[in-house]
Parts: sequence; structure tokens; C-alpha cells
Amino acid sequence: MKALTFHGKHNIQYESIPDPEIEHPADVIVKVKVCAICGSDLHLYHEHEKGCDHGTAMGHEFSGEVVATGKEVKMLHTGDLVMSPFTTSCGNCFYCRIGLTCRCINGQLFGWREHHQGLHGGQAEYVRVPLADATLMKIPEGISLDEGLLLGDILSTGFFCARQAEIKPTNTYVVIGCGPVGLLAILGAIEYGAEKIVAIDSVPERLTMAQNFGASIINVAHQNAIDIIKNETDGRGADAVMEAVGNTATNRLAYDLIRPGGIISAVGVCTDLHLPFSPTEAYNKNLTYKVGRCPARFMMEQLVPMVQQKKYNITSIISHRIRLSEGAYGYDIFANKKEDCLKVVMEV
Ligand code: NAD
Ligand code: ZN
Repeated sequence: MKALTFHGKHNIQYESIPDPEIEHPADVIVKVKVCAICGSDLHLYHEHEKGCDHGTAMGHEFSGEVVATGKEVKMLHTGDLVMSPFTTSCGNCFYCRIGLTCRCINGQLFGWREHHQGLHGGQAEYVRVPLADATLMKIPEGISLDEGLLLGDILSTGFFCARQAEIKPTNTYVVIGCGPVGLLAILGAIEYGAEKIVAIDSVPERLTMAQNFGASIINVAHQNAIDIIKNETDGRGADAVMEAVGNTATNRLAYDLIRPGGIISAVGVCTDLHLPFSPTEAYNKNLTYKVGRCPARFMMEQLVPMVQQKKYNITSIISHRIRLSEGAYGYDIFANKKEDCLKVVMEV
């Protein structure tokens, strides 16, 4: 089969790799119909995250059709259209039972293999899905393949980020980063009742999108976010900051923007070694810092009714549709924000 494979920094290749096979009776094979490039793929693309085997199929955002099932699979059948969270989960362990499916003791991340162990990703013609009954969801009535793909990661992540911010109507919320995740965190904050959301980025088109989604905006290229937020909150700072970038500078900005007793909800994947504030600084603000991977499988179920209602135009964040064979170009325009690229979906 053809796949987009990792070959080191800024080197994604469209090449042939062996077709996946059922390796365990709980596996299914999905024929991918659409897949997408995520901000998380960029950490690997830029080689901020080390250790992934060269030749690994990239990607963890996909939806498609079941074409083979292992003997233990009960809920899924050949021909079912399915959407997938970006990690697998068993549905049975302590973490799955408390809704923290991203920490399933049997879970794995798509598109990450080390020393030949791990899973190929969904930027491929076919993908093997372990623990398929608990991992995959049949795409419900009224949900498109694109919406399914967004539910599997960034829609769930944006809403998870907002949920962790413990939204209350009268408070002031800040979203740092207006990439796909930050934009969907804005919608999440609105859904959970926020009336005042300020979005921060330096890319004008992305800020315009944030504005269209209902946020007021700050362009950090030429505005001082700390002064503006302090002015708007009687000098206190934001009640919660949703961090959707993942670096030292944005975590520091989140700290500087938060009021005492506030919450930083960080979903950006930060590969730096240390947090940019000290224990004393955290103490002095009575800070709550929530960070981590989104339990996408859990969130998907919660969000399905909202997506079915078409309450928000979530697919409007998809700026580019290309073929899987054009994936290297897709990575380039998404990583380097060329052609006003916001989200690349690839048809397989
Ligand atoms: P993206 O790269 O498209 O978006 C990042 C945005 O941040 C860009 O618009 C960029 O201009 C902006 N930005 C960069 N530096 C900034 C700064 N100093 N101040 C303000 N804005 C700044 O990526 P994305 O797809 O939106 O993903 C965002 C982050 O979320 C990534 O780190 C990704 O790995 C992470 N993520 C986490 C989870 C999770 O489960 N926690 C899931 C999906 C994605
Ligand atoms: Zn992702």
C-alpha cells in the first residue's frame, strides 16, 4: 500500500510499505478514506520529538471503512464506516473506566513506532487498529467522514481544553494559539458558556477566523497581550488561559496572563525540558495547571450529539483538500503557514 512515511527532519515520503494485516484477534483493518495533518505531526516533522523509526506511516487523524476484522471483534463488521481517536484504548482498564482513555494501560498512539514496536499511522491507504471494538466508533447518522476525523482528535482536544478551564459565563478567558486546536477551543468555551474570550496569535488569517468564531483578538506581533488583558480585568488577569501551542514562550505568557487562583489548561505539546515558571511563582498565584493528552475516545461520545446538530461550522477550519500522494506538499504548507493553510485534509 501507499503511505506518507517519516524519514527524519522535514522529510515525508509517499512510498510503498507492506499492507497491514490482522495481528491479533481484536484488530480490524480500516481502509482510510480521509486523513489529516495535525499540529502534533509537526513535532515529529520538525524533529522536536525524537526516536520514531524511519519508514513509519505518519498521522493519527483518519476515518474510513472496515475491510477486515479479527475473530474477537464483535461490534464492527466489514463495510462499517468508522472514526478513530488518535490513541487506541481497551475500554476496560481503570483509566478507560474513569474516562481517561488517553491513559489506557493497553493504549498506543497511531503513527509512532520505536525499534519496530508501535503503530503505523492513518496517513496511508490502510491502517491496523488494535482493540478495535473499544477504540473505533461507527460513524453515526448525520456525521460526515470529515467531522468524524475532527472528532477523533482536534475537535475533542479543543473542547477538552475548554472543559478543563471550568468555564463560567461572567469570566474572562484567553486562548493562546489560533491553530485548529485553539480555534476549536474557542468554540468549546462558547459551548460551555463563556461570554468573553480573547484569542492570541500572530497570523492575521487565523486571528480573523478566531474573530469569526466569536473571540476578540490580540495580535502578539504588535500588541501587548498582558497589558490588554490586565486592563480589561481591573488589573487581575484572565480567569483561565487555554494554551494551544506548546512551547516555553506560550506557557510563560499563560502564566503572566493568569489571575491568582486561575487555571491554565494546556493542551499544546511542549517538548522543552522545564516549565517557564518556578514553584514559587506558581505558589504565589495559587495556580492550577492542567496539562495533558486529550481522552479523545471519551470526548467523541460526548460531542457526537452537538456535531449532529450542526451547531457550529467546524469543518470551516479545513482550508486545503489534497490527495494523499501530495502529502509532502501538505506538510510544507501547514508547517510553514503558506497559502493561508489552516488544516489539510487528504483524500485517499
Ligand atoms: P498549529 O501549529 O497549527 O497551531 C499553533 C498556533 O500557535 C499557530 O497558529 C501559531 O501561529 C500559534 N503560535 C505560535 N507561537 C505563538 C506565540 N508565541 N503566541 C501566540 N501564538 C503562537 O497546531 P494545532 O494543530 O492547532 O495544534 C496546537 C498544539 O496542540 C500542538 O502542540 C499540538 O501538538 C497540540 N495537540 C495536543 C493534543 C492533546 O491531546 N493534548 C491533541 C492535538 C494537538
Ligand atoms: Zn492530532
